[in-house]
Amino acid sequence: MSATDILAARRRVARDIRRSFAAPSAALSERMGAPVWLVHEHQQITGAFKLRGATNAVARLRPGTPGVATASTGNHGRALAHAARARGLRAVVCLSRLVPENKRAAVRAIGAEVRLVGHSQDDAQVEAERLAAEEGLALIPPFDHPDVIAGQGTLGLEMAEDVPDAAAVLIPLSGGGLFAGVATAMKALNPRLRAIGVSMARGAAMSESLRAGRPVAVTEAPSLADSLGGGIGLDNRHSFSVVQDLIDDVVLLSEPEIAAGIRHLYAEERQIVEGGGAVGVAAILAGRIAARGPVLVPLTGSNIDMGLHASIIAGQDGLQSTEAAETCPQSAS
Ligand SMILES: *Cc1c(COP(=O)(O)O)cnc(C)c1O
Repeated sequence: MSATDILAARRRVARDIRRSFAAPSAALSERMGAPVWLVHEHQQITGAFKLRGATNAVARLRPGTPGVATASTGNHGRALAHAARARGLRAVVCLSRLVPENKRAAVRAIGAEVRLVGHSQDDAQVEAERLAAEEGLALIPPFDHPDVIAGQGTLGLEMAEDVPDAAAVLIPLSGGGLFAGVATAMKALNPRLRAIGVSMARGAAMSESLRAGRPVAVTEAPSLADSLGGGIGLDNRHSFSVVQDLIDDVVLLSEPEIAAGIRHLYAEERQIVEGGGAVGVAAILAGRIAARGPVLVPLTGSNIDMGLHASIIAGQDGLQSTEAAETCPQSAS
């Protein structure tokens, strides 16, 4: 997967995705002492950037493929369901019970078959692999796939065009598909750019893996940044090594810090952004970012449960036990 693959992906997905745009944030620029640009990708079709990778991967399927299968924390499943439907293909999405109900419903509403399996992303992954093998479906994973990474990289091309002199980009980091694609595209154009991964402190699989020097498993826990949950796969073949090569720093955030990011985006920027999409802003608010030039902050998704959003805006600083119980019935085990 190279910058050339990302350029090819851009031509392939251009008609099916919405181009992002960067808007300056006066409040955050003041706080940083450097220009901060919020990149509106949460307004992407299906509510998250994942439509880019899913659309690119579906466009690259061998003709005659009957359908696609995946395991997803929600946003990839929704994106893949949309991309498959656009081409008249069947989509089966395996979700763990950690995935919030609003995201399950959204995947069903697009017309995909939803299978609820287990209590971790890894359980859902095993089921998706079984289905793909048994029913001849193409397995399109959420991050560890060259076509998915190249598709996510198209967001990096847009950011590099909009703010060519950026000193840093704050990339929400989970399985690293977004990071790998965006950092590959942006560093090809500007090698001095710092690419910073941002994640929640609870169950940050990529960060643990970077420290260990190889993919490691972590215990998943409910987080406001639910779309950043899940492991990176012990047999990770693509995203981990690219992240390892290109990452300049990792910032890990507490739940109250993530809540503050969501709250700031709503109250000051007038944007509804989910936890996983708000971590870049949260990192700035927490005083964890230093940069001497413009900082790009992609807002990666908007798919937050609106009841949860309302309670965060009202001052709640994390998941209440009822919400945690609802999304993760056996979180204590
Ligand atoms: C999937 C997702 C991420 C993280 O992307 P990875 O490729 O898994 O690192 C960040 N933000 C949102 C909203 C997502 O859905």
